[in-house]
Amino acid sequence: MTEGKAMIDKLLQTRDLRDEELEALLLTDAYDGELARSADTVRQSVYGKDVYIRGLIEFSNYCKNDCLYCGIRQGNSAVKRYRLSCEQILSCCGEGYGLGFRTFVLQGGEDPYYDDAMMCAIVSRIKAEFSDCAVTLSIGERPRESYQALFDAGADRYLLRHETADREHYRRLHPESMSLDNRKECLWNLKEIGYQVGAGFMVGSPYQTISNIVSDIRFLQALRPDMIGIGPYITHRQTPFRDFPSGSLELTLRILSVIRLMFPYALIPATTALGTIAPGGRELGLARGANVVMPNLSPVGVRKLYELYQDKICTGEEAAECRYCLDRRVTSAGYAIAVHRGDVKREREAVVPV
Ligand code: SAM
Repeated sequence: MTEGKAMIDKLLQTRDLRDEELEALLLTDAYDGELARSADTVRQSVYGKDVYIRGLIEFSNYCKNDCLYCGIRQGNSAVKRYRLSCEQILSCCGEGYGLGFRTFVLQGGEDPYYDDAMMCAIVSRIKAEFSDCAVTLSIGERPRESYQALFDAGADRYLLRHETADREHYRRLHPESMSLDNRKECLWNLKEIGYQVGAGFMVGSPYQTISNIVSDIRFLQALRPDMIGIGPYITHRQTPFRDFPSGSLELTLRILSVIRLMFPYALIPATTALGTIAPGGRELGLARGANVVMPNLSPVGVRKLYELYQDKICTGEEAAECRYCLDRRVTSAGYAIAVHRGDVKREREAVVPV
């Protein structure tokens, strides 16, 4: 038995590897085929061929933060800023509902304009009008009381990528005013409150090492999030990182497979960033262990303005076209879109053969 095959078998059986084994597996393409097959078997044993869809509503590109990698950072004065009103957000949900979406993800920069009262009102209006739908928030770091109020208003899930679990790496990606400790504390708070929680990181962000990625995986093992968002870093020319290269498709796919083997129950998106660095990137993501896609439901007029990285895909089409295009993509990859909320399956609900 080859060394790589032995490591994959160990992953299947124990859902874990030693640091040096993980690094070795991540650093070679020799076992990508075997990894992909194993990841797909595990994903199908829990989620079958279902692909869960989430309608992404990018409702504000104002941000008070200055993350060095991000195109909508406060310091990027070239960005034309926009905010969607509650009515506009509801209208996106209405359109999405008609297209079969039963989860809406409200994502934005950290924009203090949307205070707790306003966000709670938006969440409760969506829950009142679309009672069979889940609401996911992705609005950054807030105090615990704010997370609690939003949860009480009806929010079901929260996405907050930890970005990197390594203190020194975090420091190089963010300004002094931000801290890894606070980001982690937010995630623990969200979990304690009762949200389905998503964490994750970019692959190939500036200064990232393989051992940073191992630390990211260790943090995920400690947090045990329901959702794990992993996509390539993509350069944005109006950031301080304009001269760094984007992350690699191959490494991102390999990490997705390893993550699926370690977290059989996780909801793992094939991200828009993956579809941006390679044509068919999201389909490849689905074949390597991902089981969620998050098409854009934002009004077409603002899609180009929510530019976290350059050349982002799906900024020109109508939502309806996007949905049918997505159907074709998912079917072509051998999977099928599920029209329901798409909650995470817990361990007790499914049996994973190892
Ligand atoms: N403000 C919220 C937050 O901080 O979680 C949500 C919005 S933030 C723009 C969403 C995610 O975009 C981040 O967690 C980050 O991983 C990703 N992102 C930002 N810039 C990126 C880039 N240049 N390439 C790839 N992903 C990027």
